[in-house]
Amino acid sequence: SVRTRFAPSPTGYLHLGGARTALFSWAFARHHQGTFVLRIEDTDLERSTPEAVQAILDGMQWLSLEADEGPFYQMQRAERHKEVITNMLAEGTAYYCYSTPEEVEQMRESAKAKGLKPKYDGTWRPEPGKTLPAIPEGRKPVVRFKNPTEGAVSWNDMLKGTITIENAELDDLIIARPDGTPTYNFCVVVDDWDMRISHVIRGDDHINNTPRQINILQALGAPLPEYGHVPMILGPDGQKLSKRHGAVSIMDYEKQGYLPEAMVNYLARLGWSHGDDEIFSREQLVEWFDTRNLSKSAAQWDPKKLNWVNAHYIKALSDSELLEHVLPRIHARGGNTEGLDMPAVLNLFKDRAETLEQLAENAMLFCAPFQPAAEELQTQFLTEDAKRILAGFAENANQLEAWTSEALDALIKGTLSEHGIKMPMLGIPLRLAVTGQKQTPSIGAVLAIIGKTTVLERLQNAI
Ligand code: GLU
Repeated sequence: SVRTRFAPSPTGYLHLGGARTALFSWAFARHHQGTFVLRIEDTDLERSTPEAVQAILDGMQWLSLEADEGPFYQMQRAERHKEVITNMLAEGTAYYCYSTPEEVEQMRESAKAKGLKPKYDGTWRPEPGKTLPAIPEGRKPVVRFKNPTEGAVSWNDMLKGTITIENAELDDLIIARPDGTPTYNFCVVVDDWDMRISHVIRGDDHINNTPRQINILQALGAPLPEYGHVPMILGPDGQKLSKRHGAVSIMDYEKQGYLPEAMVNYLARLGWSHGDDEIFSREQLVEWFDTRNLSKSAAQWDPKKLNWVNAHYIKALSDSELLEHVLPRIHARGGNTEGLDMPAVLNLFKDRAETLEQLAENAMLFCAPFQPAAEELQTQFLTEDAKRILAGFAENANQLEAWTSEALDALIKGTLSEHGIKMPMLGIPLRLAVTGQKQTPSIGAVLAIIGKTTVLERLQNAI
């Protein structure tokens, strides 16, 4: 059965590339009714932090990429990793190496000088009939994997096709440090094996690790997973996506007002396609997901397209979803939503909003305390003529039976023809008087939301 994993190192936030890799692994598992495993690779004690672990879990939760198994923490598997090393030493697929880092550096230098690939020279590698040097006193050894010297490692990558590396190119990898702690590549191998991972989907920055990992798996007699190395994400300028390009932490997008469904949709399209489909649901993604449709070339981050996708998902929100997403953002701005028809407020802006933050900002027109327009705007537009027209309008508005946007629109039309004036001659002074702003959405709707008492009060003040 299909078992995939996402194996982040908790050395920072969950970035866009990581989130996309997680999404692909998740979608592949779901498509095959398989299992998606989350494994936190926290063995780099110096760089791993609990905050980063939390940021990864938060990001996964926000995108609803639930793991079927895990989170597993690699550090908690240390005993198991050591056990495998002990077995390998006993079986002769690994050996103690007492060369110092300085000595190894020299070996590499002299190989380079001879025009050879810089490598450890195999001083401590046991071979039949070979006598090993005497063990230097008090020196702690590393453990090295006894990499095959002949032949080649080959795998058929789900994205890159067949990749073949000559074993002569590969070093005897250090699998345990002098203090006995296993190294990164080794832990990955043991964990992928123990967790019975069938498909490894990861960034192509790991492609150099794969031949080493395959050799170790083979030495362990473990089944080999399939590998798929996903090309990286480039910034709009064609450079590797980084902080220079703005937010790269997935949770920054939550803060900026992107919907998780939009993010999933956009991230999926970033390096994967299903015909010309741009908008698709999570269910469709799972149904359609196929590694054959993963792109072989790097994808380019496109903030405009992300906004377009997000706008689409915002438009599709129901009133109650809109409230749930936007009210907290309005309150965070100090906005007051009490007594306001908030669905009506949000629907005024919903169709043009690219982010939830924009929507919240727009809604402040109604939720922030009234701020009179700037002095020069008032002098320019609230002329004596304009005030006279506003006074007439206020009187008629006061008589309105139903304070609805339709009734108000009709009254505005009537006022225009009564005075023989064009819309801006009434619209601008009216907006300035009632909202303090020169531009607002449809004025009838705005007046309807603000409410009769307040509108008439503000008109009176302006006149
Ligand atoms: N822990 C690695 C990383 O965060 C990924 C390892 C893997 O997928 O094999 O880059």
